[in-house]
Amino acid sequence: MKYYNLKDNQEKVDFKTATIKGQGKDKGLFFPESIPQFEEEFMSNLHQYSDHEIAYQCMKDFVGEEIPSEILHEIISETVSFEIPLKKITDKISILELFHGPTLAFKDIGARFMSRCLSFFLNNNDKKVTVLVATSGDTGGAVAHGFYDLPGIDVVILYPKNRVSPVQEKQLTALGNNIYALELNGTFDDCQNLVKQAFSDEEINNNLFLTSANSINIARWLPQQIYYLLAMKQWQKYEHAAPVVCVPSGNFGNICAGLLAHFRGLPAAHFIAACNANDIIPNYLKTNNLQPQKAVPTLSNAMDVGNPSNFVRIMELFGQQFNSLQDKISGYSIDDKKTRQTIAEIYKKYNYILDPHAAVAFASMEQYLQENPDQKGFILGTAHPVKFPDAVENAIQTEINIPEAITDLMKKEKKTVEISSDFEELRRFLLHKN
Ligand SMILES: *Cc1c(COP(=O)(O)O)cnc(C)c1O
Repeated sequence: MKYYNLKDNQEKVDFKTATIKGQGKDKGLFFPESIPQFEEEFMSNLHQYSDHEIAYQCMKDFVGEEIPSEILHEIISETVSFEIPLKKITDKISILELFHGPTLAFKDIGARFMSRCLSFFLNNNDKKVTVLVATSGDTGGAVAHGFYDLPGIDVVILYPKNRVSPVQEKQLTALGNNIYALELNGTFDDCQNLVKQAFSDEEINNNLFLTSANSINIARWLPQQIYYLLAMKQWQKYEHAAPVVCVPSGNFGNICAGLLAHFRGLPAAHFIAACNANDIIPNYLKTNNLQPQKAVPTLSNAMDVGNPSNFVRIMELFGQQFNSLQDKISGYSIDDKKTRQTIAEIYKKYNYILDPHAAVAFASMEQYLQENPDQKGFILGTAHPVKFPDAVENAIQTEINIPEAITDLMKKEKKTVEISSDFEELRRFLLHKN
């Protein structure tokens, strides 16, 4: 499979190059040259296949010969290594729980797949690779755990001091070994600025092989299709009609992976882009006018994005046809008040605890089903509520238990290096860490 740059169709690269480079010229996103179709027999009999086989079928055409099949099998085993159950909340709305992985968020899947591909491709490199990321909370943990203990790779994570939740902080800072956490006295934007400076700094790049673990990397984007198929396998057990699929969206990578799977043959009646107050795409779907905005902070902060970078891939999937896009996707914008109300109400009525991102999805799905009462579907549960304790505990007036998967991690000690927003401190750290 070849991938072309959406900003310059002439630039075509293989899976390996796209994975290592992340993006093409002019920061263009890579997109697969063809959309491989699922066999109908496979799609209507998913229950006859193991989760592993489904994941392998999903990924093999995108990787091609570039990773030997036995290694790809290994990578898949390590990627789909935790349960992803589809649970009923109401008669009409189910939730795909994507938060049983090591950092309790769906990003574990993309991060684990990408880290292992990178590690395979860079294996024979004599220079050590340094993965450098800025995080507002969720991405950093998934990347840290994805790369933990992989040979030849160091990970340096910058996060804003006192602005991530206790669970998120432990996930960033307690691993140690090849994972370095830098606690910055400043905001997430300050973290991002320092990372950008590092990528353009000559001395650093002469001495280190720096790479990013950006969410637009195809090796993070493509494996997200896997769990849509795993959802369908469970859906087919008790439903006949195609589901409405509702995805809490920020950068639109997750929903774009679901749409890609749909274009390959995955049945879906409709897609819903569930957004918080950052309503660029819901507005676009109403007006055909794409107006990027400055992100505003909300309770569902992993979706506080003012210019969703993966949306260009969605446009490409739909052949730049606004009308077909509008037929398949509806957008909703849910504010913090409604988010809190939804968390409280669903807990009271169904004894189910939604995190703020899933609450945005639930409220969007309810609105859509009011307008389309004969349909049913599922929302994606992208994070465990314990990662956002302030918002959730406030809404349900109850403390949330720490899940077993991370009780050991919570006992470990936090290890960080504090830095200021002065670039010199980051430069010194990067050049002298080993
Ligand atoms: C990253 C994230 C999202 C948004 O996913 P996109 O692919 O950026 O649209 C939603 N929910 C949670 C919990 C996240 O961490």
